[in-house]
Amino acid sequence: MKIYPLPHQPVVKDLVPDLKNFYAQYASIEPWLQTVTATPEKEWKQSYQDRAKLDGMYECILCACCSTSCPSYWWNSDRYLGPAALLQANRWVQDSRDEATGEWLDNLEDPFRLYRCHTIMNCSKACPKGLNPAKEIAELKKAMVDRQV
Ligand code: SF4
Ligand code: SF4
Repeated sequence: MKIYPLPHQPVVKDLVPDLKNFYAQYASIEPWLQTVTATPEKEWKQSYQDRAKLDGMYECILCACCSTSCPSYWWNSDRYLGPAALLQANRWVQDSRDEATGEWLDNLEDPFRLYRCHTIMNCSKACPKGLNPAKEIAELKKAMVDRQV
């Protein structure tokens, strides 16, 4: 068996890839709860049903297997966010407590950041957690369309 570092990333040493760009892209989406209403005294509440909508996204461990298996990311990783960051973006777009859906989508409305995904599906095959980033990207694209109508 041959073991290689994650593909199409600069190698620091042996099996260690340089993931600076990957983490910078993750930071660029500002992946945290964004609200405008006053912070509640104890906590932001969420129904069990709304919490269940985050299943399949919150489990992401940011291992980068999906992004580094994506041909669109190989070719455009300077401008395309890649499946991991996009799955995380959808995790917040779908969060019932978040109040910045418009801003999230504005930030992704770009020919490269989101729309370089061509539904090749390598990402979903590569995920060691069994997540489906391609599906989450499709949901983001749908949210883009829904807000136009
Ligand atoms: S579905 Fe999109 S993100 Fe996933 S591998 Fe294909 S192009 Fe990349
Ligand atoms: S492969 Fe799966 S766990 Fe790893 S970053 Fe992508 S979605 Fe997250």
